[in-house]
Amino acid sequence: MGIQEQYRNEAAELLSSGAVKLVIGYGGGSTPDRRRPVFVRSAEEVSRLVLDSYCVANLSAYLISEGLLSDGKNVAVFLKPDGIRSVNILSAEAQVNPDQVVILGFNIEGEQTTPLPGRKAADYAPLMESLRSSGLSPELQREADRLEQMSAVERFDYWKEQFAKCIKCYACRQVCPMCYCRRCIVDVNQPQWINTSSHTLGNFEWNIVRAFHLAGRCVACGGCDRACPVNIPLRLINHRMSKETLDIFGHFPGESADQKPVLATFRQDDPETFIL
Ligand code: SF4
Ligand code: SF4
Repeated sequence: MGIQEQYRNEAAELLSSGAVKLVIGYGGGSTPDRRRPVFVRSAEEVSRLVLDSYCVANLSAYLISEGLLSDGKNVAVFLKPDGIRSVNILSAEAQVNPDQVVILGFNIEGEQTTPLPGRKAADYAPLMESLRSSGLSPELQREADRLEQMSAVERFDYWKEQFAKCIKCYACRQVCPMCYCRRCIVDVNQPQWINTSSHTLGNFEWNIVRAFHLAGRCVACGGCDRACPVNIPLRLINHRMSKETLDIFGHFPGESADQKPVLATFRQDDPETFIL
């Protein structure tokens, strides 16, 4: 039995037994190589679920839909390792109760899709250790290396050119499971902290504020890259922030549900005087 059939059967069992009220998975998209999220509420509907190497979106973002988990019932969701890390971060930040999330985990390697054992985020602790050393795709790593070799001025010019393309559509924010504020600072207009029109300064403010907001929280799922209509390589800047928090604090985002958020915690014996 292939993985798609196996997971359809499991989804049907979870729904018919009442173990979950909803399965969030992938369905056919607008082209043969696209997938879109589907929300399955009964065992009769599981034939809508598709699972193959095109299922790249991080579906954990749907867990933070307003009110979804507030009735205490469980939800099952198809997740790759990046999505499992997101669930850990959302749990650590008190946005989801991990006990309510049943993970239908899978991995994609080339065209192969393989099941991952374990149905709770905590079951994946051994996997998290091995992910620490995993990095960007070879193509993105080459670009990251190229940026590292630039001088600060050259790098600034690189990002100025990239951010100049931004049209402030906020698709990167909408797709990101780590951007869950009900009202984002960029939408506040009294006072207006961040300029909403697309111009150099406002674009810098927006993209840099977001990168700092994601420091030590980005799981490198690539959702922002894929969503950006003008192809700004957003994952590169978030990856660089993750590298900083890993190098300085040994923090690998999403390792466990009780991992403290790196920028919201401190040690009493921290040598920096500003702490206490
Ligand atoms: S910033 Fe981009 S790559 Fe990082 S978690 Fe959010 S969507 Fe994924
Ligand atoms: S998705 Fe791209 S264009 Fe849209 S706000 Fe984000 S960076 Fe700007």
